[in-house]
Amino acid sequence: MDFDVINTTTKDELLTAIEDHQDTNFRIGAGYTDLIMNLRFQPTEGMTLINIAQMKDPSFISIEEQQDHIVLGTLVTASNIVNSPLIKLEFPVLHEAALSVASTQIRNSATVGGNICNASPSADMAGALVALKAVCCVLNSKGEERIEPLASFIVGVGKTSLDKNEVLKSISIPRNSGDQLKSGFEKVGTRNSMEISIVSLAYHFQLDESGKVVDAGVSCGAVAPTIPFAESACDFMVGKDLDGLSETDKEEFAENVLKYATPISDIRASEWYRKEVLFNISQAIFD
Ligand SMILES: Cc1cc2nc3c(=O)[nH]c(=O)nc-3n(C[C@H](O)[C@H](O)[C@H](O)COP(=O)(O)OP(=O)(O)OC[C@H]3O[C@@H](n4cnc5c(N)ncnc54)[C@H](O)[C@@H]3O)c2cc1C
Repeated sequence: MDFDVINTTTKDELLTAIEDHQDTNFRIGAGYTDLIMNLRFQPTEGMTLINIAQMKDPSFISIEEQQDHIVLGTLVTASNIVNSPLIKLEFPVLHEAALSVASTQIRNSATVGGNICNASPSADMAGALVALKAVCCVLNSKGEERIEPLASFIVGVGKTSLDKNEVLKSISIPRNSGDQLKSGFEKVGTRNSMEISIVSLAYHFQLDESGKVVDAGVSCGAVAPTIPFAESACDFMVGKDLDGLSETDKEEFAENVLKYATPISDIRASEWYRKEVLFNISQAIFD
């Protein structure tokens, strides 16, 4: 591979580098677990790599606890998430999703921002964050910020809504308002480790004292070009008593999730298999 590298350690350096390269071919590099693979299949001659892995700005690297939100800097790694007691307590779905990413070695490099910006339908942390109704904070080269829900930020396979002069700065997750949680991440792959999903399901139900669902977030991975938020499945669950769910309720929930699945058959699984698995794991989360 043949390209120039610009190392950025501050926000200003990053914005200047992006501004200066608007007329050239450049890529942002964070943990490189996806990028290195992607660059193998692309011509890199004349390309500039803007490296953000050494950024020191806290808004890019920290997990910040605010009153209504938890904010993840784009460079927070899967390991940082796994090791955060706050995330484990408040967002078990994200803890489990981060833990399901490959191996410890990959998790130590794989950033949450890279997982989102790579825009793979099977990105595990992105899936959990869609279910958590996370929003992206995007920064442009002029230093202006815009906010966009993650569910619309990923627009297709390998595509986000980022303009050429923009970078993902952080991801903000609304904190829980319910008294109890049922929250988790189900992933089916061909093997248990080092494997991207064939199908995944992220769910985060907030319950009141009596066990009734007061807020729901559900997303499904690897079954559509993006990671859909299963709105009608969420609507179906709000107001339901989780302990009193009937078999028909579970089936209806799974049918609602399935509405969002438009999978393809590929080398890892057929369309039929993906739909079957999604239906079954959607029902099974309540057993
Ligand atoms: C062996 C192996 C196993 C894997 N297993 C899994 C798995 O089980 N589950 C899973 O979800 N993923 C898996 N992955 C994929 C990968 O580790 C993740 O997607 C990772 O989170 C990407 O983050 P990164 O920091 O490495 O991104 P990079 O590779 O540095 O970047 C990825 C893309 O995002 C862009 N980008 C990065 N940061 C920003 C930013 N702040 N603003 C704008 N663009 C940005 C880059 O330009 C590039 O296009 C695996 C990868 C490997 C190599």
